[in-house]
Amino acid sequence: MVNLILFGPPGSGKGTQAALLVEKYKLVHISTGDLFRFEMGNDTPLGQQAKAYIAKGELVPDEITIGMLRNKVHKHPDAEGFIFDGFPRTIPQAEALEQLMAEEGTDIHALLALQVDDAEIIGRIRLRGETSGRSDDNDEKIIQHRIDIYKNETTPVFDFFAREGKSQRIDGVGTVADIFERLSQKIDAITNKQLANGG
Ligand code: ADP
Repeated sequence: MVNLILFGPPGSGKGTQAALLVEKYKLVHISTGDLFRFEMGNDTPLGQQAKAYIAKGELVPDEITIGMLRNKVHKHPDAEGFIFDGFPRTIPQAEALEQLMAEEGTDIHALLALQVDDAEIIGRIRLRGETSGRSDDNDEKIIQHRIDIYKNETTPVFDFFAREGKSQRIDGVGTVADIFERLSQKIDAITNKQLANGG
């Protein structure tokens, strides 16, 4: 199994790259942002709870997010691996994910962090907002708030996995194909190492 965290600020291209990576590596893609949008679209109790936070650019509380993530992982008992996108975003979420992987008899193998500067991500989110219909992409204050939360609450997750030697930085600026190639090289190195160690 290869379990990856695709990491990076809002608008850094995680969703775009994850869609390409699942095709190539046959992994299950779990995006907590997509899951919340699905719940909100269906106006479920979970969606209604999440909406209040997402609209303001706040994080949804850990308890809700972790529960949703666990359910989703358990729906794929035969997965060859997972790509986690937008999760973990806090240290308690990182700890919960490690525990969940241990329960499944596996582990997180790498955190791949897309590096994109603030000016570039603000530009990308604004552009996405023109077509995404996401209210959190269309308000300058909310976009800035999401970036601030990323810096304060989410970047410590990079350090958390770095302590285990798992965090790697990838230049997230360039064409979609260039960035895909950079990520693929990192993932190939991880899977080759697993094969060399007897799977
Ligand atoms: P972005 O592309 O801006 O990173 P996402 O689609 O990943 O956005 O997430 C959209 C919103 O959903 C976040 O701003 C946050 O409110 C909520 N959300 C997504 N993932 C999490 C998480 N792991 N913990 C808490 N809130 C989350």
